Amino acid sequence: MFFRDVYGHENALQGLQDILRGGRPSGGYVFVGPTGVGRRTLMNAFAATLLCKSAGVEACGSCESCVLLAAGNHPDYVELVMEGSTVSVDEMREFCHQIEFSPMISARRVCVINDADAMTVQAANCFLKTLEEPPPSVVLLLRAESTDRLLKTIVSRCQAIRLGPLPLPLLQDILAERGVADADILATLSEGALGKALVLAEGAIAEVWGEMDEAVAKLRPGRALALAETLLGWASRLKGEKGRAREGEMHVLELLSLLFRRRLREIDESRVILRQLDLTYNAAEQLQHNVTGELVMRNLALSLCSA
Ligand SMILES: [Zn+2]
Repeated sequence: MFFRDVYGHENALQGLQDILRGGRPSGGYVFVGPTGVGRRTLMNAFAATLLCKSAGVEACGSCESCVLLAAGNHPDYVELVMEGSTVSVDEMREFCHQIEFSPMISARRVCVINDADAMTVQAANCFLKTLEEPPPSVVLLLRAESTDRLLKTIVSRCQAIRLGPLPLPLLQDILAERGVADADILATLSEGALGKALVLAEGAIAEVWGEMDEAVAKLRPGRALALAETLLGWASRLKGEKGRAREGEMHVLELLSLLFRRRLREIDESRVILRQLDLTYNAAEQLQHNVTGELVMRNLALSLCSA
């Protein structure tokens, strides 16, 4: 819940601290960026500082407000509670009702919607009424992957804090500092999102990487069927926390291309590897064009084994 725990994102961080320094935050902010990039950490730090009694640009960590917030018992901190995978209109009504109360211990109330892009249209319309005329002492914080799935009228009433991916070398350093093995592989696969890298680090990625190295050394005609099964097996092990099949399939292709790129650097005879790399890129492109993972992997296995 501290700005000092935020890695990178200097511009966004400076912007938020300027707002705090000014002492007059506006009614709503939407934190936008890919999953795992650090939106939650930054938003929590902003929330804690907005509530902190020291009124500085970083929460003090020791006042009544900071202690209650850390314990999850702050009366002026409200989070929208969502049961399913979307925000229902009833859940939104309850949240908007909570917003109406006056602050009890802090100078303001901070009300948070963690998955703003999961609002149903009805919920969004219900929220819009509150957002149009928020109580003066309320700051609304929304988090979303992109503003595309939010009502334009919601976006236009909030100040957007946009977070991009972390630079690769920085992410590698952070992971290495935390003692995470295979920091370079994880940094590449996570596309600059620290949270995603940490989730991947706990998964089967290192195992798959080891197996992949062995499998690629054994590419030859007649092994295509077995390789296709292996590719699909890896994909299902790398599905990630939301269990999206496509995510696992993309990870397999990213790992494969990383492996071929490395071999390209190490080995003189590069024509075959270039071809293999090319085939892997093509497969990734097909996946992006919604060809089924099964078909993509089978075709790739066949062409890799005869390349
Ligand atoms: Zn404090």
